[in-house]
Amino acid sequence: MCDVVIVGAGLAGAVSARKLAEMQKKVLVLEKRDTIAGNAYDCLDENGVRIHVYGPHIFHTNHQGVYEFLCRFCNMVPYEHRVLGRIDSKLVPIPFNFQSLEILLPEKADDLKQRLLTAFPNTSKISILTLLDHSDKELKKLGEFIFEKVFVHYTAKQWGIPISEVDTSVINRVPVVLGYDDRYFQDTYQCMPENGYTELIREMLNHPNITVELSCDATKRLCVNESNQILFDGNTWEKPVIYTGAIDELFSYRYGSLPYRSLRFSFESFEQDYFQAAAVVNYPNEEDFTRITEFKHFTGLRPEGSTTIVKEYPLMYDKTNPEADIPYYPIDQLENKKLYRRYLEDVECCSQLYLCGRLAEYRYYNMDAVVESALRLVEKIKKG
Ligand SMILES: Cc1cc2nc3c(=O)[nH]c(=O)nc-3n(C[C@H](O)[C@H](O)[C@H](O)COP(=O)(O)OP(=O)(O)OC[C@H]3O[C@@H](n4cnc5c(N)ncnc54)[C@H](O)[C@@H]3O)c2cc1C
Repeated sequence: MCDVVIVGAGLAGAVSARKLAEMQKKVLVLEKRDTIAGNAYDCLDENGVRIHVYGPHIFHTNHQGVYEFLCRFCNMVPYEHRVLGRIDSKLVPIPFNFQSLEILLPEKADDLKQRLLTAFPNTSKISILTLLDHSDKELKKLGEFIFEKVFVHYTAKQWGIPISEVDTSVINRVPVVLGYDDRYFQDTYQCMPENGYTELIREMLNHPNITVELSCDATKRLCVNESNQILFDGNTWEKPVIYTGAIDELFSYRYGSLPYRSLRFSFESFEQDYFQAAAVVNYPNEEDFTRITEFKHFTGLRPEGSTTIVKEYPLMYDKTNPEADIPYYPIDQLENKKLYRRYLEDVECCSQLYLCGRLAEYRYYNMDAVVESALRLVEKIKKG
């Protein structure tokens, strides 16, 4: 018997489980995969390189409480993420900064840097959309250049739609930097768990009040009936359920499927210390893939003499196609939000059903925000 059922052993599920267990609640975590850690799952490959199986994960946050909470379960190692982009056969820092400008437009760089600093005196980064709209013709032209080289084709590849149909919040995730700071993130805490995310989450779930069942698709045991009652193993269930899976799946797709982008990952190993100059190199334009990640940049030169990379190919999520049946990114479009809200109305009728995480809340979530949200949710459940 348990006090709370949690669906999913990713970050959202594991953080909630741990906090509830520490409040003397007996927690049952059901996980569909045969591994914990959700999309943050990592492991050592046959060469001893720690790979991130569902895409590269870099921890960064400004939230001291979140950082301190995670530090209870692992040793965090400082790591500052840097990304290069292959543009016009040259490697330049991404986000686009003054060095990118000097490499790609050497003759105009001095004049453009001066114009940028005069036009935006009190800020270190701006949105590309601000440049595109600028009254200074030279800055507008620069905006068009960066937009075309960095944003247009990458965004279309990533989302499978023209950039004009992509929500501006997505475009604004990557700024234009007014200076030479080439770090991808500027957060106070930027680090990686020394022994990986899987170990971190394993430690979090390691509590006498937590039971984890792997390879257990919760929708086979738990459902919401027509009257919006939760049934667990065929019986009415009136205690809390924290659900971190896809919301449409829980409701048997009663209003239709929510669309996602999926990814195909192609891993390759080489007998050499390093493959490329940065952890991530973006390929915004010609190639079918969006980026190449080389994992050893996350861990230092460990192990020596071999390295592993992964290429990412975005594609449309299709639950019937084994090549594309993992939902990675909710698609931030009005009609999808509307469909999501229909499911949410039904959730509101189930008093003990709580949603948490990127699938259940159908939104783009960084790991720190997921941890914060799970911590807040447990406080809410505690207050009743
Ligand atoms: C390619 C990629 C790169 C990313 N990089 C970063 C990054 O660098 N930094 C960062 O902060 N964030 C990054 N993120 C975001 C990060 O992955 C999420 O914030 C985090 O994984 C969310 O945790 P979660 O628990 O909500 O979801 P998940 O990690 O997806 O966990 C949900 C779990 O629920 C399980 N589940 C689903 N349905 C069921 C069911 N019916 N029964 C049982 N179990 C079920 C799933 O198997 C999964 O294990 C990235 C995301 C992607 C896709």
